[in-house]
This record gives sequence, C-alpha cells and structure tokens, in this order.
Amino acid sequence: MSTISTWINEAAKTPSSITPQRIASLLSLTGEEAEYLRNAAYAVKCDHVGRIVHFRGIIELSNICSKNCHYCGIRRENPHVERYTMPYDEVMSAAEFAFQSGYGSIVLQSGEIQSDVLTTRIEKILRDIKTMSDGKLGITLSLGEQSAETYKRWFEAGAHRYLLRIETSDPILYKQLHPQDGYHRFETRLETLKNLKALGWQTGSGILIGVPGQSFDSLAQDLFFLKNLDVDMIGMGPFIPHHQTPMHTMSDYDPAVQLHKGLNMIACARLLMPDINIASTTALQALADNGRELGILSGGNIIMPNITETKYRGSYQLYDGKPAINENAQRSRENLQRSIESIGETVGFNAWGDSQHYLKRHKT
Ligand code: SAH
Ligand code: SF4
Repeated sequence: MSTISTWINEAAKTPSSITPQRIASLLSLTGEEAEYLRNAAYAVKCDHVGRIVHFRGIIELSNICSKNCHYCGIRRENPHVERYTMPYDEVMSAAEFAFQSGYGSIVLQSGEIQSDVLTTRIEKILRDIKTMSDGKLGITLSLGEQSAETYKRWFEAGAHRYLLRIETSDPILYKQLHPQDGYHRFETRLETLKNLKALGWQTGSGILIGVPGQSFDSLAQDLFFLKNLDVDMIGMGPFIPHHQTPMHTMSDYDPAVQLHKGLNMIACARLLMPDINIASTTALQALADNGRELGILSGGNIIMPNITETKYRGSYQLYDGKPAINENAQRSRENLQRSIESIGETVGFNAWGDSQHYLKRHKT
C-alpha cells in the first residue's frame, strides 16, 4: 500500500509527474487500494471543479444509423430495432422540459447520418432552442462524424460542445471493434476530433472501457491520448454487451469487473486532467443502481439524465439493460437530485457548467 499511496499522492499533487506505466498499475488496483485511488481523485475533483454536479438532459433524437459498430445495439445491421426519428415538436418540448427543470444544458444525440437534410434540420432545431430559452440553455451535440462545414453551421446556430468518442486510441483494437467497410476509419475519427477543436468547439471524447483484447496498458494509453488531445470533457463508460450484436458474447464478462474498471478509469482521468468535465455515464448505472453516484465519488462531475420520451427508450438500447426505460423524466429528476445531495454534492441548476479547462484555454 505504501508505494501505491505515494504514487497516488504524487499524482494528485503533480499530475505531470505520472507515467503511463504507473497509470496502468493504478487501473488494476482492487480493494482498499482502489478506494484510496478513488478518494484521492474525488479530493482533486472537489479542489478543481467543486462539489457541484451539472446535469445535461439527453435527448435521443433518432436511432437511425449508417454505421455498424460491432458493439452497438442500434447498429445498421440490427434488423430487430424499430427505427424512429423524433418529430420537431417532441424535440422542442423535451428541450423546454430541460429548460423549465433548470437543467443548464442539453445533449442532442443520435445514430450517425450525414445529409444536407439532417444538417438543415439540426440547424433549425438549434436556433429554435436558443430562441425558446433566450440563449440560456447550453447545447452539446453527439451526432457522430460530420464535415467541417456541417460542424461550422451547427456551431453558428448555437451549439457549443461536441462529444465524439475515439472509442480506443489503439488503431489495431479500433479495427477489431469496427467493420472494415470504409465507414469506420480510425484516422477519420481522429481528424474529425481535431477539426472540432480547431473550429472552437468545447470538445469531449472518451472510450469504451473493458472490451475484449484491451489491456490496462492500452487503457492507460487512452487516458494519455485524451490528455494529449487536450480535451475539455470526457464521456467514457464500461462496455456492456448487447444480445443482437456480434459482441454479444464475451467469455469473461463480469458486470462487477466492468463497473470497477469504469470507476478506476474515472479516478485516473481526474488525476491526470484535474480541471476538465468528466461524465459519470449511464452505463455505470446499468451496472449498479448507485453507479452514477459512485462515478461522482471517483472524480466525475457531470450526469446526463435521459429526457427522451419513454416511448422511444426501448428503441435506443445501445447495450442490454440500459436503464430508465420506464422512468419518466420528471421522476428521474427528483430521484437524481435527492441522491446527488445525499452524497454531499449540490446540483448546478440553471448554469452551463462549462469545463474549467475550456474556460482557461479560452482566456489565454
Ligand atoms: N452515434 C454517435 C452517438 C451515439 S452512440 C457516435 O457513435 O458517436 C454513443 C456512444 O455509445 C458510443 O460512442 C459508444 O461508445 C457507446 N456505446 C455503444 N454501444 C455500447 C455498448 N454496447 N456498451 C457501452 N457503450 C456503448
Ligand atoms: Fe451508430 Fe454510434 Fe452505435 Fe456506432 S456507436 S452503431 S455510430 S449509434
């Protein structure tokens, strides 16, 4: 314990001192040592971004996707999914619900489609949400890879944060997780992330944690990749198999191990990048009822409650057991606020809660 606690204390004090080798060792910790790691990361979170959790209400606009990621339940080639696109009015009323509920921001997420019709439709939605909320509702997009031109139009229409996970920073593993059909190129994903940054977006990325063939060294490299990319936000979560995908069987799949890895990853991310926003993702909640609270106590500071109408939830199952299928948005809000307050945190209502890292970057 003493060497480990020394490493953790050093990392908490001087993030630049930590090496990928040490991060890989910290990621493998269990028991009391893992607890020490997570407590240290939580203390770093409190020092740098406060004891405040920000909510981003997530609206799952459409499950139509042109891609075929091996791990994802709404991949193009899953014939069992009933495809939908939320009509304009429903998107607007979900956004209005978020605004009235004091959520400072929303996330618009969907499968990946590239078309002029989509670009124009999203542009209108963005402008109308801005007008409806008098410019007060922050908007994050998570609509996959798009051209620089599209990103520019959406930014000008009022969105300012974008989430695009690299999924893994290892190009070989990336190839194993995605079909080689010309639609899933690691280099394109990387280029797209760089475009987003260059265009001024507050940029978030992340990875899938605990996929077959991924070592602790690889996960440590992922965290250094995110640090070198100088991301403002991280959204990463444990991989959970979906029964209608090529990755439905994972021989040594264990939900407890996935949860544990997810929490250690959040803790190490916080030690390495003290002032960014880190989401405590829904996949953690799928693995344990209090998964998202544990994510906060390991260094996360963002929660993305689902505010999509319940009738669509069953059709947006990225992984098996995705929670809150039958829980409506109003009830989720109350439950979540209560449980966040029960761990001694406050909810940052009516605030954008931009990443401190982004704000500092923009001052300089
Ligand atoms: N289509 C967009 C956004 C929606 S998918 C995109 O891919 O960027 C959002 C995230 O869901 C993906 O980045 C992926 O990391 C995650 N996801 C997909 N399938 C998953 C699974 N089986 N377990 C955990 N996360 C998964
Ligand atoms: Fe489509 Fe995103 Fe799922 Fe890949 S992860 S299949 S891009 S929705």
